[in-house]
Amino acid sequence: MKLQNWWFTTLLGTEESILPPLKGDIKADVVIVGAGAAGLAAAHRLMDKQLKVVILEKNICGGDTSGKSAGFLTPDSELELSQLIRRFGITGASDLWKIATTGVIMMHHIIETNKIVCDFQVQDSLFLGIGKGGWQDIIEEMESRKLLKFDQQLYSKENIRSIIGSDAYSGAVRYTGTFGIDALLYCQGMKKLLLENGVEIYESSEVVKIEDHCVKTHLGSVKAEQVIFCADKLQHELTHYADKVYHAQTFLSVSEPMSDAMITDMFPAGKFQCWDTDVVYSYFRLLGSNRLLLGGGDMLTTFSKQDVNSSIVIDRVIRKFKQKFPKLKDLEFVQYWPGRIDCTRDLLPTIARDENKKWLHFVLGCVGLPWATFCGDFAARHAYDDAACNDHHYYNYLRPDRGFFVPLWLEKVLSKQIVFSLNNGWAKYYQVDINAAETKQITRMREAENANLQ
Ligand SMILES: Cc1cc2nc3c(=O)[nH]c(=O)nc-3n(C[C@H](O)[C@H](O)[C@H](O)COP(=O)(O)OP(=O)(O)OC[C@H]3O[C@@H](n4cnc5c(N)ncnc54)[C@H](O)[C@@H]3O)c2cc1C
Repeated sequence: MKLQNWWFTTLLGTEESILPPLKGDIKADVVIVGAGAAGLAAAHRLMDKQLKVVILEKNICGGDTSGKSAGFLTPDSELELSQLIRRFGITGASDLWKIATTGVIMMHHIIETNKIVCDFQVQDSLFLGIGKGGWQDIIEEMESRKLLKFDQQLYSKENIRSIIGSDAYSGAVRYTGTFGIDALLYCQGMKKLLLENGVEIYESSEVVKIEDHCVKTHLGSVKAEQVIFCADKLQHELTHYADKVYHAQTFLSVSEPMSDAMITDMFPAGKFQCWDTDVVYSYFRLLGSNRLLLGGGDMLTTFSKQDVNSSIVIDRVIRKFKQKFPKLKDLEFVQYWPGRIDCTRDLLPTIARDENKKWLHFVLGCVGLPWATFCGDFAARHAYDDAACNDHHYYNYLRPDRGFFVPLWLEKVLSKQIVFSLNNGWAKYYQVDINAAETKQITRMREAENANLQ
């Protein structure tokens, strides 16, 4: 199995070219740093506003996390709905879930309206339970979805075989409105769309410094009224918010094309996008080329400081997958690649507008393409016309200084990785904010904004 990102393989031979870097000093109304899902969504929001919008991207558009992702477009990312309800109550959870569902709808709309070629697949989601505990998780997720009046279908051990060709699962919940894409092609399609609409994009242009309204690259600079950072793995020198961003590692692999018989056996009732209830879960879906995309990780490497490039982890994921689907024992996986996701301690993104510099915006730690899309769009809307926006409550939910179980200063004693995994586990499985004064305040704020709308 070769170490190579499959999406880069699919990009080879397409007509998209790499854009030249920024050279020299220019001015703009808005400069966006980073062209993943978030930065591109920010530019998309601003492209028809008669503004000069410039994007600076250190790689190619989508060249970092977005272009390594599995391309599941679902509101579920690391956080399940039941976990958000436990933490924030129904109002808070429905506010936050709206971020992810809106992100999915926005991406779908952009792809459809602009006919972006990105291996777009309509794929219902199938959340698969493993063991007794997994079945409990499935029931909890289904009850949570019911509370928010969503549609879904439950499968028990007895009838799960009707939708998935394995006896290894204890149940599943299925829902619609989710899609699969080649996210690198999506980003490259967005690049084309933005260029056609007057956005200036410079690739191979890493921002290394920010001074007042001016961001500097190695070869040039952009002075702008508004500066929006949608960049990942940011350096401390660019912002102190970088210290509050952590990384989680996951791995992907892609198989040779599957035969029709294999596909029918695996997906007797439709080609779902699937993930399971394990703490470090596995996820898989079919690509348009009938190749199977399979991802996963393990406890050690998820939080590890070092990038792991060997195939050890993904080999194990593939082995476990084949135990669940014995008929696929001879299916060969041809390429694999690792990826590091920026995230915060509670897996919710951070959106910040600098207190003393209202023109400086940050979108950080987005786990999930839809979350990133919403947050990039949000930052752009607020940069363009803050007064016209009626969703300021998200600044409060997603502020950088929200509280955590283990305080930051303990990182010096326990190490960043350990404190991150403790906070992460706490937020995912135990944290309850619903009674906190600040959550109540956000809820009141949201209600006031809703009232203004009516
Ligand atoms: C293996 C893997 C699988 C995943 N699977 C899924 C999935 O199936 N579904 C899903 O929704 N999410 C998935 N994710 C998560 C998803 O990819 C991310 O949450 C999302 O891409 C974040 O988008 P972003 O725009 O915030 O960040 P990025 O896509 O990382 O964009 C930030 C950009 O900023 C650029 N940049 C950084 N620093 C600078 C600088 N100083 N100057 C200029 N540019 C800079 C980077 O090059 C990068 O292009 C997966 C992630 C990985 C790694």
